[in-house]
Amino acid sequence: MHADRQPIIGGNWKLNPQSLGEAVSLAGQLRNRLGSQRSVQVVLFPPMPFLHEVAEKLRESELLVGSQDLAVQAAGAFTGAVSAAMIRSVGGQWVLCGHSERRAVFGDSDAIVGQKLSAALAGGCKPVLCIGESLEQREAGQTFAVVAAQLQVLKSFQVSQLQDLVLAYEPVWAIGTGRVATPEQAQEVHLFIRQQVQELFGKNFAQQLRIQYGGSVKSATAAGLMAQPDIDGLLVGGASLLAEEFANIVRFKSGN
Ligand code: PEP
Repeated sequence: MHADRQPIIGGNWKLNPQSLGEAVSLAGQLRNRLGSQRSVQVVLFPPMPFLHEVAEKLRESELLVGSQDLAVQAAGAFTGAVSAAMIRSVGGQWVLCGHSERRAVFGDSDAIVGQKLSAALAGGCKPVLCIGESLEQREAGQTFAVVAAQLQVLKSFQVSQLQDLVLAYEPVWAIGTGRVATPEQAQEVHLFIRQQVQELFGKNFAQQLRIQYGGSVKSATAAGLMAQPDIDGLLVGGASLLAEEFANIVRFKSGN
């Protein structure tokens, strides 16, 4: 955490919960706990069908809402697709691009992730670009090469287009596995990412860019991660479905 960068914590609900009632109830519980705090920017990523009602539930609170994904296309004959403009229209401000589950399960390549980033920016959504290596890649010593390659999608943008960009470093081996990277392991990669971004866009941009860590974050591990100088926030999956646990993560306070 760095004094010049406001921490940003995301709650990625993935394919949960299963009903609108449960989603709105979770949003209400989070609003009660976190709705007026301003020190940390908090963005919830509910499933698309619930986004509007969740955004309504959080209206005039400090909690923001985003989509877990978007289509490359802006409009037209693309069955099942959801555009950035639609996300904006139902109260979403942010969008995840290139989450590892999108990459691994749905086949989003770097090229598609780049197009999604472009679609998000063109449609007025603030993007969180997710990157990170697999266990095999880490064990083969390829972590830096993999994240450097994933960052190449940024090359096709001007720095002026990327003012709202947030990066999320999410080592795939830590997502949903209970195996969190140590603060030192995460810091090492965050620093490398910031240096790569500096090479692409210069020091000023790199210094103001926020980089989240994601992968099995719990309240017990949040503070240790956030104490690292280049970790500016957290992207939380499983623990974001538990209101008190997620609130403790946002407070950097262990619930145990
Ligand atoms: C995620 O979905 O981005 C994530 C980090 O999940 P989890 O916290 O469950 O590992």
